[in-house]
Amino acid sequence: MSPKSASASDPQDLLGIDDLLGDEDRAVRETMRSWAADRVLPHIADWYERGELPGIRELTRELGSLGALGMSLTGYGCAGASAVQYGLACMELEAADSGIRSLVSVQGSLAMYAIHRFGSEEQKQRWLPGMAAGETIGCFGLTEPDHGSDPGGMRTYAKRDGSDWVLTGRKMWITNGSVAGVAVVWARTDDGVRGFVVPTESPGFLAPEIHHKWSLRASVTSELVLDEVRLPADAVLPGVTGLKGPLSCLSHARYGIVWGSMGAARSSFLAALEYAKEREQFGKPIAGFQLTQAKLADMAVELHKGILLAHHLGTRMDAGLLRPEQVSFGKLNNTREAIEICRTARTILGANGISLEYPVMRHATNLESVLTYEGTVEMHQLVLGKALTGLDAFRG
Ligand SMILES: Cc1cc2nc3c(=O)[nH]c(=O)nc-3n(C[C@H](O)[C@H](O)[C@H](O)COP(=O)(O)OP(=O)(O)OC[C@H]3O[C@@H](n4cnc5c(N)ncnc54)[C@H](O)[C@@H]3O)c2cc1C
Repeated sequence: MSPKSASASDPQDLLGIDDLLGDEDRAVRETMRSWAADRVLPHIADWYERGELPGIRELTRELGSLGALGMSLTGYGCAGASAVQYGLACMELEAADSGIRSLVSVQGSLAMYAIHRFGSEEQKQRWLPGMAAGETIGCFGLTEPDHGSDPGGMRTYAKRDGSDWVLTGRKMWITNGSVAGVAVVWARTDDGVRGFVVPTESPGFLAPEIHHKWSLRASVTSELVLDEVRLPADAVLPGVTGLKGPLSCLSHARYGIVWGSMGAARSSFLAALEYAKEREQFGKPIAGFQLTQAKLADMAVELHKGILLAHHLGTRMDAGLLRPEQVSFGKLNNTREAIEICRTARTILGANGISLEYPVMRHATNLESVLTYEGTVEMHQLVLGKALTGLDAFRG
């Protein structure tokens, strides 16, 4: 057994999953964990209560300086980290709050990934270094008010006018929208769905923030209004036509969620474990009751299985072997189990479980969004159903 093996009683690593990590992996994890402990955890309950992410630009620049933006992309100022390292970063950030992980996922796995994979050399040179450094925030507009799970029905339309493009339509629930300097917007054209790189100062572009959310409150979520936004010919992403463009970006971001959701679950599990050891009822710590131990054991089993699954998918991604239905497997399982772990943790904390003094309810309500965005539970069940049966049940 290596000296780095966890002891059997380490509640964070009952299975010795740490042994699967290299020194660099652990260093990335430690960097992100201590940044989150310093910059997010002392403030997050307050931000959450206020429904704001103050200092988002400064936080984004700091994340850029840590190499967390477009982390697994190469060149153009990106860190070129492994998929496992990117996953570990997502886990540490989401252990602080899903809103912070969402900021990083949308920036790196959606907006930057789209430009990196499908953009022209000029588009990459123009946008990626600033986005990697956190100087420019990006957003990714796919969902519309009437088209969420079925983006193929999108109405946002880009028409040709001479060599220009003119974009008209609306996008909904767009993370980072109101603070973005650049938006990757997917629109119908006469030749199929295309991606457009839209500077947000373009005339006709508006991004009003969506308020009154009870989930992901420390995250900027916006509507995008595109009112005849005129763009030059070279605003289109040349590398892809059709829904496979946005769907491949989503696959990359979903992979980060497979890890991230386990961060939220771990934070809630540890909070419940500590609480159960301290809290006394009927003359002894509630951790000493068999029913509480059954809950803790079940939570630990799902947490460790989820992390193991995330690591497995990460090594497949690093080997170039990860298939979309495998990402669906991970996103479906880990978000579903994470929210269940948070809900069980909430019961262990009793009334205190609903307080912002503890992270549990915040994580649980955040995970309601995480369960839905990047493909709902049902969409991933349908992806797996199709992979298993060969039959497409998306249309009933
Ligand atoms: C906080 C937050 C941030 C987001 N950020 C972004 C972003 O940055 N960019 C972006 O483009 N989008 C973003 N989204 C949108 C998100 O991706 C969509 O909400 C999601 O795809 C679901 O779409 P919908 O909400 O329209 O639900 P709908 O598609 O209307 O689905 C409603 C329900 O019907 C079910 N359903 C739909 N079709 C079927 C079917 N065939 N069979 C069975 N059940 C079905 C769904 O599973 C779901 O339970 C965000 C959402 C949230 C909440």
